[in-house]
Amino acid sequence: GRLADGEQVQRLLTEAYERYALVHEGRVADYIPLLAQASPDLFGLAVVSVDGDIFTAGDADYEFSIQSVSKPFVFALVAEALGHAAAREKIGVNNTGLPFNSVMAIELNDDRTANPMVNAGAIATTSLIPGDTADAKWQFIQQGLSRFAGRELQLDGEVYASETASNRRNQGIAKLLAGYDRMYFEPLEATDVYTRQCSLNVTVTDLAVMSATLADGGINPITQQRVVSADTCKRVLAVLATAGLYEHSGEWLYDIGLPAKSGVSGGIMTAAPGKGGLATFSPPLDSAGNSVRGRRATTMLSDVLGLNLFASK
Ligand code: GLN
Repeated sequence: GRLADGEQVQRLLTEAYERYALVHEGRVADYIPLLAQASPDLFGLAVVSVDGDIFTAGDADYEFSIQSVSKPFVFALVAEALGHAAAREKIGVNNTGLPFNSVMAIELNDDRTANPMVNAGAIATTSLIPGDTADAKWQFIQQGLSRFAGRELQLDGEVYASETASNRRNQGIAKLLAGYDRMYFEPLEATDVYTRQCSLNVTVTDLAVMSATLADGGINPITQQRVVSADTCKRVLAVLATAGLYEHSGEWLYDIGLPAKSGVSGGIMTAAPGKGGLATFSPPLDSAGNSVRGRRATTMLSDVLGLNLFASK
């Protein structure tokens, strides 16, 4: 079955906006100085069906840096370019149960770094992007993520500068990966490309389109362009189900039953395979770095729209 009828989706989005705008819990991320300036009141929601219908509520056109929500799309590009089997030999797919920036992800597996949704695995994934230079890799990523979004995504130069100036931890992770032969490009350059990918600006509507593309077997439902194969999507969504919400991934799947990915700027994309993409944006985060309003709103919408993958009816 497809998504419920459009009027119902729109009504529910508006209702979710009104209800969860009243929630004032969580804290805006401040370890990247520029992110700390985000207004905690920003709140946007969007749903895009695989048929290309778009529904929005709240701050749906507000641009923010994509941060970790870039990770599944960059992993999709790598799995597509290398083949998923070759990608998997280098990047593990098990949950770490640890914070997103944990150094432990490097050592959890015997022969490869842990999954592409935490920083260690994500920086290693970025290092595998085709291209001989950092700029070539960056262009590959910018163009690839733009195809997922169906429009040209631009770098937020201020976020990039702010994050570059406070990037010692990711640089350290990348160098340690190199020490274990689990890094596939010059580590500081790979970290820089990763930082750029995190600084791409999106709206919550973009995230819903990107998510709907994964839910639609790799075809962007707005542009009708094939971005990646259906096989790649299936595998990316499987990693998201186990590792998309850091150490709260189990709780998310338990409550919501859908693959999703969060980022520290407050975005969350959720995919309902064969049905569509759902995205939320609200900067205040919980202790694992996941948007508080986003989690509440997605729980409500998954429930009322009957999207939980484990529900038999
Ligand atoms: N750019 C951020 C970092 O590497 C992304 C983290 C996130 O969104 N969880 O720290």
